Amino acid sequence: MENIFTDAYFMKKALQEAEIAFEKGEIPVGAIVVVDNRVIARTHNLTELLNDVTAHAEMQAITSSANFLGGKYLKDCTLYVTLEPCQMCAGALYWSQITKIVFGARDEHRGFMKMGTQLHPKTIVVGGIMENEASELMKRFFAKKRK
Ligand SMILES: [Zn+2]
Repeated sequence: MENIFTDAYFMKKALQEAEIAFEKGEIPVGAIVVVDNRVIARTHNLTELLNDVTAHAEMQAITSSANFLGGKYLKDCTLYVTLEPCQMCAGALYWSQITKIVFGARDEHRGFMKMGTQLHPKTIVVGGIMENEASELMKRFFAKKRK
């Protein structure tokens, strides 16, 4: 039997969150957290609404998942995020000891890889899942802003 719970399957859900952010005029980044193929958190960037530069999708996903699990460490959790995490989020993800991070598009300017931010040594990272969709959404957003 074919497994429908692929990285692309869950990334589509993160992209739906990014679309919601887009509609709200937020930089369109979405994230979800999955445990045993079950979504336990759905978040998107809310920096404009909350007037808070720390309100990235990943930061909220960490808090929301910890609340759901009743523990601060995100053991056996996978974060799906449409854009490569920044160094702030990578730092927070380090503390969460999250098991796996799957991201869509690379962030060549502010991504944690460019910045050289270390994740937890046990954290598995997969990049480039549905990256075209994620970067298209970003491009559409910034094109609209320039008008
Ligand atoms: Zn971030």
